Parts: sequence; structure tokens; C-alpha cells
Amino acid sequence: MQRTIRRLMVAVAHGDDETLGAGGTLARLADEGVEIALCVLTDDDGSRSPSGEGVTNRVGAIEAAAKTLGVSRVSIHSFGDNRLDTVGQLELNRVFEKEVEEFGPDTLFTTSMSDLNLDHQIVSRCARVAGRPGKGTVREVRCFEVRSATDCGEASGMPTFRPSLWQPLDSHHLERKLEALRAYGAELQEWPSPRSERGTRALAEYRGSQVSVELAEAFELVRVVL
Ligand SMILES: [Zn+2]
Repeated sequence: MQRTIRRLMVAVAHGDDETLGAGGTLARLADEGVEIALCVLTDDDGSRSPSGEGVTNRVGAIEAAAKTLGVSRVSIHSFGDNRLDTVGQLELNRVFEKEVEEFGPDTLFTTSMSDLNLDHQIVSRCARVAGRPGKGTVREVRCFEVRSATDCGEASGMPTFRPSLWQPLDSHHLERKLEALRAYGAELQEWPSPRSERGTRALAEYRGSQVSVELAEAFELVRVVL
């Protein structure tokens, strides 16, 4: 049995998480007519300049990547990168709950709890709260992997990322993901970094080969209500 996604909200800590984790899937779903909203909690990369220049660049990069992927609505908040643990969980829950109220998604994508990056864990927890049953419109929650952070999830003491859902991609979806990643400039690193173009292709091929398709992105399915 399959359910159709119509309105998708993607909740992340950092601009680029959405592209690294689900960029190909977002491109595919946007092509299929899904309305997609991206909610990013931080607007800097931990190196905010006194002039605020870094913020402008980051916001511009997020918007450019979103446009490439076909995301129609973007909201960017100003919490500090790698400092989400200094913000009360109630405040962060409220940010996502408000987004859910306003946008009315039926599906929510977010980062995984099986992730070394504390921001990613915090966002995952808060997004699940906003998407919990009986509250709002969300009927499906899934988590994606962000290379270099989710790769080291076991170091955080959490269980290893274990995908239970694979989204096959066509090559043009992967190309859109790579184009969106290029919008983030320095975030796209040289091979053999897991965040390189080749590393991104390698992961799509590996995830695809797990289910005998050419290319795929993999997700942990947290909950689905048919
Ligand atoms: Zn991140």
C-alpha cells in the first residue's frame, strides 16, 4: 500500500542538510507536483562575520539551493550554528509547530537521531514533536542521512542509521542535487571527502544498489498513517 505525498515540510538545523540528505528526492517530488516547504533553524555556518556578511551569503545559498530543487517556500530562522543545545526545546518545538500550523504538511522530513551532530539530533526530536499524532496534519515522518555526521552516528551513542525506505532517483534528480550543493560553495569539498561531488554520487549508487536500482536516497521511516 502506498500513500501520496502532497505537502512536504523539511525541517533542518543547517542549510545544506536538506540537500545532502534528500536533495534528489526533493527534486523528484517537486517534479511530481508536491508542494515543498523548507524550514532552516540557523542562518550562519558558525563563522558569522561582524558585518553579518556570512549570514547574507548563507541565506542566499539556501534560497538558491531551494530554487534548484523546486522548493516553493523557505523560512530561515536565526538560531546559532552548533548552539541549538543552548536554546530551550520548547522554543524550538514551537518554531516547527507554528510552521506545521501555517503550511499544513502531510509529510515531514528531518535529520536522524543517529547522528554525531547535536543540532541534527535536536532538530530530529523537535520535528517529531511538531509532527506527532493528533497534533496537526502530519501523517508520515522520515529521517535522512547527512554524510560525515550521520556516518559517525554510533560515536554519539545512538544506534546506527538504519534505512527502511529507499527513494529511487533518475540521473537528472541527482544532477539537481549536485547543482543545489554547488550553491553552498565551500560546503562542497574535494574527494575523498564524504561531502564531495564524487562522495555524493557514490552514496546514491550505494543506496541504489542496496535495492537493485541505479540511484537512490535512503530514509528511516519513523511513522506513517495510511
Ligand atoms: Zn547540518
